[in-house]
Amino acid sequence: MARYTGASCRLCRREGEKLFLKGERCYTNKCAVARRGYAPGQHGQNRKKLSEYGIQLREKQKARRYYGVLESQFRKYFEMAVRKKGVTGVNLLQLLELRLDNVIYRLGLATSRPEARQLVRHGHFMVNGSRVDIPSYITKLGDKITVAEKSKSSPKIKSILENTSGKVIPKWLEFDADNLTGKIVALPSREDIDLPLKENLIVELYSK
Ligand code: SF4
Repeated sequence: MARYTGASCRLCRREGEKLFLKGERCYTNKCAVARRGYAPGQHGQNRKKLSEYGIQLREKQKARRYYGVLESQFRKYFEMAVRKKGVTGVNLLQLLELRLDNVIYRLGLATSRPEARQLVRHGHFMVNGSRVDIPSYITKLGDKITVAEKSKSSPKIKSILENTSGKVIPKWLEFDADNLTGKIVALPSREDIDLPLKENLIVELYSK
């Protein structure tokens, strides 16, 4: 399945929630959810009540869209979450949180997850001293993430850091702003993941 290349704001309007896919714009009154808080399309304003399956499906789609993950990859994360010890839904969210693009976003090195994804692809970051350009790379406890030396002076990175200064870094991460280095100091718990997701609905959907 090809990656979605349409307007990001349509995805938020479809889910009826801000998914924060466009950085700064999401916090302004230009946000499409704030201006047109109904689903896109001709029938967007008169959607029917959802079935139980529909509710579970929307929750899964919302999670996929928050993290920018394709269906096949999302299902793989679910299978990995089932195999891990603990609560499957929480394991799933933990895996998504540990993706390198999400970690970059959480550290304030990108203003949105899509931007983080692009920056990772362009080779701006190192993990434990080696360049990693795979956004889906799953980081581990103790991993050290740094901005590549040549990127530290990049106007793009500087402008991002200005925009994200003051951002609250989740407590499972540490960030040294002087050296542009982050570290995974704990695995994210459910309480650390501030997204309004009902992961149990996703587990129910995939367990049918
Ligand atoms: Fe979503 Fe951001 Fe667009 Fe608002 S501005 S609809 S939060 S992507």
